This record gives sequence, C-alpha cells and structure tokens, in this order.
Amino acid sequence: MKALVYKGPGILELEERPVPVPSKGEVLIKIKKVSICGSDLGAYRVASDRFRAPLVLGHEFSGDIEELGEGVTNLTKAQRVTVNPMVLCNDCFFCERGEGNLCGNRKSMGTAIGGIQTHGAMEEYVAVPEWMVVPIADNVSYEAAAMLEPCGVTLACAKKGFTEDEKNTVVIGAGPIGLLIVKFLKALGVPNVIVSDILDTRLEKAKECGANQIINAGNQNVEEMVKKYTDGYGADRVIIAAGVGASINQSFQLVRNGGTIVLVALMHEHVEIDPMEIVGRGLKFLGSYMFTTEMAEAAQMLADKKLEVEDLITSCYDLADGKKAFDVLNDPHNTEIKVQISIS
Ligand SMILES: [Zn+2]
Ligand SMILES: [Zn+2]
Repeated sequence: MKALVYKGPGILELEERPVPVPSKGEVLIKIKKVSICGSDLGAYRVASDRFRAPLVLGHEFSGDIEELGEGVTNLTKAQRVTVNPMVLCNDCFFCERGEGNLCGNRKSMGTAIGGIQTHGAMEEYVAVPEWMVVPIADNVSYEAAAMLEPCGVTLACAKKGFTEDEKNTVVIGAGPIGLLIVKFLKALGVPNVIVSDILDTRLEKAKECGANQIINAGNQNVEEMVKKYTDGYGADRVIIAAGVGASINQSFQLVRNGGTIVLVALMHEHVEIDPMEIVGRGLKFLGSYMFTTEMAEAAQMLADKKLEVEDLITSCYDLADGKKAFDVLNDPHNTEIKVQISIS
C-alpha cells in the first residue's frame, strides 16, 4: 500500500508499505478521507518529540472496515467508520473513571505521544482495536466523518465550564477549532457568541457558523468591543482557540469577574501571568484536552442533521499530492480552513 511518511520538518515522502494484518480484536480499515490538523502542520514546520520521524501522520479520518480480526463481534465488514485516535491503556485510574483523555499511558495515532510512534491514517489501510472504532450513519459523508475527531475536541471544550445561564462567550481564534466551537456554543444555546481573529475571511466564516459579533483584532480594540457587547462587564466565558501566548493575558481582560476561561489551544511557550487576576477576581481557569464521549455525540448530531461541518472543508488533495496540501497550508497568505487528503 501507499503511505505518506513524515521524515522531519518539510519532508513528506510517498512510500510502499505492507498492508497491516489485523490482530485479535482488531479491524482493518480502508481509509477514505483524512483531515490535516493544525498539529500535523506544526510538525511539518518544527521538529517536536510528539511527532518523531519517521511517522505516518493523520488522526482525523474515515473509511470502511475491510477485514475483521479474530474475536471482533460488534462491527461488520464494509461498515462505514471513523476512529477515536487515542490508544488508551484501559487499565488505570483515569481510564477506569471514563477519563481516558487523561490516561498517562496513552499513545495516539499519527503521533509519538507516549514515546513511541503510532502510525496514523495518511496511508491506504490501518489496523486498530475494535474499541477505538466509532461507527457512522449512512447519511454522514466520509468528508464529514473525517472531521469528527476535532468535533470531539471542540464539543468537549464548548461544554467545559458551560452553565445554562451563560449569555456571552468570547472565542479567541477562528481557525477550524474556533469555528467548530462557535457551532457547538450555538447548539448549546449561548445567546451571544463573540469571535476575534485577525483574518476577515475567517471572521466571515465565523458569522456563517453562527457568531453574533465578530472583532478583527488587527484593527479593532478587542477589550473595548467585548465590553461594549457585554454591557460593560466582560464575558461569562472566554475560550482560547489560538495558540498564541499573548491570548492568555488578553483573556483576563475579556472575562467578567467570576467568569471562566477555557484553554483548548496547544501552546508551546511559557507565559507570565499575574495570579492576582485569578484570585482577586474569582476566575476559573480550565484546560480542555481531547474528549471522552463527545466524538460519538457529534457523530449522532451529524446523523440527526443537527450539525454541519462540510462547510469548513475548503480543499482536498490526493495522497500522491499530500505534500502539496501541507505546503499550501504552510503559506501564511492561504485562505484555507480545513484541508483533506483523499486516499481512495
Ligand atoms: Zn487534530
Ligand atoms: Zn489509562
């Protein structure tokens, strides 16, 4: 089979690899679509221990079950599926309480998390344990299904710290993650969703996704605008979906006293904060990492037509042109939102 192999920053090469054989309890999946994640792009830009080469990237994907390993009982051949990419130990304090996203022994497809390369889906076939598979309904496209992993991340984030009386929520950053969060905040019933970004194209998309107010941080004063949209008090909740360290201190300026800040963006820099902001104003500062049940919940929302995600897919490339897809996203002037790779 063909596999797109990451060999280090800027290097992706098409290789021939043997088709995996599903072990006991595993299924073989023929991959259809893979979405490129911001974290895949990060690896393409800068070397990181989380993405040690050589590695097949891709943890957002869909496909068909091609073959069942011994002992697989809950899935069938030709079934349409996606996969929760977290490879859990299923045997620790966190896994036992249903918080597998916090499992310390966790590995993850398309990454080297846990110190070992776990190959992802930018190849024609993968074999995964049955329990990682999330079936998709017939009316859900492969394109949409390959968006369900970030849907899990963003639905869990939208729910983090949410309260029924929440009126105003700010989302910092209108990339694919920020835009999906906007959709889920509206689905949860938040009346006023305010989005800030520096790109007008993304802010326009945020409006289409349901944002009530948009702020261009490049030429507008975000703090002033948020105060204006929240009766002068600041937002009930601020969600940071931009991986820029400065947005942490900005969130203190945008949240109201007693409000909640949720950090979902992965940041790889140290940030200095004034702890008195948190104590003296009674703030809650929450981290939102991955998800537990939310990928399956989002799959149900897609099947029930309560969620649409295909509007965020802006381009699709064949596996052979996979490197081109990364180069396009790497261009600072690109206007892409979600880019997919078509495998078969
Ligand atoms: Zn991702
Ligand atoms: Zn565990």
